[in-house]
Amino acid sequence: MAVSFAAVNLRTMALRSSSKLLRRSSHLLPPIHMQHSAPPLTRKISMDARSIASQLNRSGLLKTQGLIGGKWSDSYDGKTIQVYNPATGESIADVACMGGKETNDAIASAYDAYRSWSKTTAAERSKLLRKWYDLLMAHKEELAQLMTLEQGKPLKEAMGEVNYGAGFIEFSAEEAKRIYGDIIPAPMSDRRLFVLKQPVGVVGAITPWNFPLAMITRKVGPALACGCTVVIKPSELTPLTALAAAELAIQAGIPAGAVNVVMGNAPEIGDALLASPQVRKITFTGSTAVGKKLMAGSAETVKKVSLELGGNAPCIIFDDADIDIAVKGTLAAKYRNSGQTCVCANRILVQEGIYDKFAKALIDAVRNMKVGDGFGEDVVQGPLINEAAVKKVETLLQDATSKGAKVMLGGKRHSLGFTFYEPTVVGDVNSDMRISREEVFGPVAPLLRFKTEEDAIRIANDTNAGLGSYVFTNSIQRSWRVAEALEYGLVGINEGVISTEVAPFGGFKQSGLGREGSKYGMDEYLEIKYVCLGNMKKE
Ligand code: NAP
Repeated sequence: MAVSFAAVNLRTMALRSSSKLLRRSSHLLPPIHMQHSAPPLTRKISMDARSIASQLNRSGLLKTQGLIGGKWSDSYDGKTIQVYNPATGESIADVACMGGKETNDAIASAYDAYRSWSKTTAAERSKLLRKWYDLLMAHKEELAQLMTLEQGKPLKEAMGEVNYGAGFIEFSAEEAKRIYGDIIPAPMSDRRLFVLKQPVGVVGAITPWNFPLAMITRKVGPALACGCTVVIKPSELTPLTALAAAELAIQAGIPAGAVNVVMGNAPEIGDALLASPQVRKITFTGSTAVGKKLMAGSAETVKKVSLELGGNAPCIIFDDADIDIAVKGTLAAKYRNSGQTCVCANRILVQEGIYDKFAKALIDAVRNMKVGDGFGEDVVQGPLINEAAVKKVETLLQDATSKGAKVMLGGKRHSLGFTFYEPTVVGDVNSDMRISREEVFGPVAPLLRFKTEEDAIRIANDTNAGLGSYVFTNSIQRSWRVAEALEYGLVGINEGVISTEVAPFGGFKQSGLGREGSKYGMDEYLEIKYVCLGNMKKE
């Protein structure tokens, strides 16, 4: 399929963004005729996105078709969807818009490939995964450029995501060789009891747009290492990075059908994955609402399910914190990826004795953040993913200010226009405001005041989410007490960026099920089989 660089079409993009949001949370949307409040985009970007796309096209990494059974394929009805650069509104490429039929074929290919892939030795799988890792790292720059183009994050952050994302493939290559079973002491002398660990089967992996590479490798690495095969469904907003990673998997020699990619009509693809008895596992990263649907839909065929869902991370700053460390950590935990991560600090709880000092230091630091196109020099904050994301930030901020919160910095669309939003700090927030109860998913830091350690723990735990959390204190005793009391899967103490492939990532409560990364992440793709060898008497 030829890659087309369609002209800027802001209206199409606004409508598309809004129809996607309608599918998800219609209460956030104003009527269509009110959706063009963003200033028109006439800006010149710092680096010509088209020339980057052309370079990528020449490198063979700008793929626009789905991958089924080792073959690149258009959608069967020829439909395409456009992928946009959120920094400019320009269309980057038209990609195949697939649905149920293509997904069923991808499942059949994965099922076929499973027969042989699951029989390969751990050493063979490890070698191929290692090759894939090497290729991802060799193409780090192109992958990062693709990510900045379709997702908007600053290039430096995108390079960081390639390191992080490729790390899951490297870790899985190593861990493939360490999938041990057990021998259990038998209660009867003529028996021997064994535990075997075997791959779960075909895996459906559905991923979001905010980490276009890492959310895929975090699933596909361990799945392949364990002997499973996969059908990946990346977000329609960021399929290009996923397709480039799949191309590199082929180049690494991962056999046809072991990795398939379909994208387009999400509900149709999801339904096909759920309905198939051949798909034995669904692994999903995305919103809690869609995660619940997938969990319910998996019941019919009793699939194994892992869910990495939304968060509402508290970031607790105690009076005894080192203020420089607390500000640095909060900046990283809040504003990374323009605030669009599931572990982004969503509520900054500040003890009353340090509140004013911390607020001032945070505002001084945030004021210096450079906003712009992700390819621009020194840019640390890119655009939000789409118009719907900006509307959500505006709605939550408006609700907060109408209930007494005070904007201390920012608080509006950036003068760059389009989906750029000013890095914002808002004070006097309380737990009743929507901004404290829903993911902001934008560059807004809401400050809440608290009195005691017990108050902080109570406020922090007063949510259905339980993914990331952060604590800033100089007391070792307090850090242990609070870490143990927080109902969260991840706790960062005096640190704002804690994700790594070697540690388990996952949530408590409605933030999800299961863990990704580390040795614990492997278990999600394994079945445990108990074998009893009886009648051991001499023949
Ligand atoms: P989303 O709307 O739930 O989408 C996630 C994926 O699900 C996308 O590929 C989407 O496809 C697909 N999808 C949507 N409806 C579906 C359906 N009915 N059946 C099957 N698939 C369906 O979430 P998002 O807006 O992309 O991502 C943001 C959310 O992800 C936030 O809540 C964030 O906290 C969460 N997240 C969690 C983690 C974690 O590790 N816990 C990490 C990153 C993000 P399309 O995009 O093509 O519509």
